[in-house]
Amino acid sequence: MTYPRKANPRLEQRLREMDRINSAQTLIERFPQLKSLNVVLGYFDEQRMSHAGELRYRANVQHAKCVLTFSCPNTSCTGGGFDLSEVLVAAVAKKSKTAQGELRCQGTRTTANKFESPCKHLLHYKLSLAYSPSKGKGARAAKAAPKAKVEAGKSAAA
Ligand SMILES: [Zn+2]
Repeated sequence: MTYPRKANPRLEQRLREMDRINSAQTLIERFPQLKSLNVVLGYFDEQRMSHAGELRYRANVQHAKCVLTFSCPNTSCTGGGFDLSEVLVAAVAKKSKTAQGELRCQGTRTTANKFESPCKHLLHYKLSLAYSPSKGKGARAAKAAPKAKVEAGKSAAA
């Protein structure tokens, strides 16, 4: 006898997320130059009328995963949430000290009368990043080296 498994989209989504996070690299593995990362999040409902909450998160770059996802605070939301991983990748690529903006939840909320509508919760984010200086020094030394070689070649030819 088999029991039909009741679909629970919210739970299944969370399990998929956990899989993705568990297999991800840590921040320091993915971004060796990243020294610290602070995240401030503000949640708003669709009309921006009510401030649904704020979250401050200081990442431990040695242990925290490079996947930056935050669940939607709307408990009737399915398939929603916010993914700041791409924002982080772009910020580190540009060596930005801060990155801020807004993301809108792409999930669906089900109202009491079973009517489905887009969640549209809004996340205002601000990332503050700091970098280790060691990589920059190495890059300058590497740039200086080829020039010295050219000069040495010239004097040998003459
Ligand atoms: Zn949502």
